[in-house]
Amino acid sequence: MAVLQDLLEYQRLDGELRKIDLELNATEEKKKLNQAKVVMRNAEARIAAQDKRALELRALRDSLMVRVDEMSKAIAEYSEVEELVEGGGDVSFYKKNAQQLLEKIRSTKQELNKMLAEVEQLSAEYKKLMEQGKQMNKQRKEYTEKYKEVQAKYAGRIEELTKQMEEAAQKIPPEVLERYKLKRKEKIFPVIMPLNGDMCVCGMDLPLAQRNRLAGGNIIECENCHRFIYKQ
Ligand SMILES: [Zn+2]
Repeated sequence: MAVLQDLLEYQRLDGELRKIDLELNATEEKKKLNQAKVVMRNAEARIAAQDKRALELRALRDSLMVRVDEMSKAIAEYSEVEELVEGGGDVSFYKKNAQQLLEKIRSTKQELNKMLAEVEQLSAEYKKLMEQGKQMNKQRKEYTEKYKEVQAKYAGRIEELTKQMEEAAQKIPPEVLERYKLKRKEKIFPVIMPLNGDMCVCGMDLPLAQRNRLAGGNIIECENCHRFIYKQ
């Protein structure tokens, strides 16, 4: 029985702290601060992706330059085409080669244009991201200060509740407290709840044998959701 009362008291204090936490999270100051953090984090990730793409584009540029070099050399060979043809060379062979070369130049030009368009787009996006980052950094600084002021209003009450909770925790068997905290980590609240008919709040039916164990203020743990159950 004692454990039940102590656990309920601990949960009551926990609930008060949770309420403050929810209130703090719902403030305009916290929302603006979070918004700035999220936008900045996303911008950083996007800039990192851009940096990676820039490296790929640099490699692409290098390979295009190699191709341009090759094509220049091939074109240079055509300065001797007259002599070669006069010396018995096959005109149609050179014609075919020239066409292939022309096709290669066309496709290289296309790739270059595509690359330049992407570079322009990346650079415009980068400018936007930096502008946004500057703005959000300002917002982050401004609302860090404002949020501190809001927190200060609650500090006394939080300290008081935390101290009371620490005292209440000492009365609870460590393994029970450990299980309670584990549930809270999963954002579950309340952790300890009264029997709801023959069921746990999660909807799990409790067999009679288990329900019988609730007599005398005993606590059981739901096999499904692992909440603590007691009988009112
Ligand atoms: Zn349950």
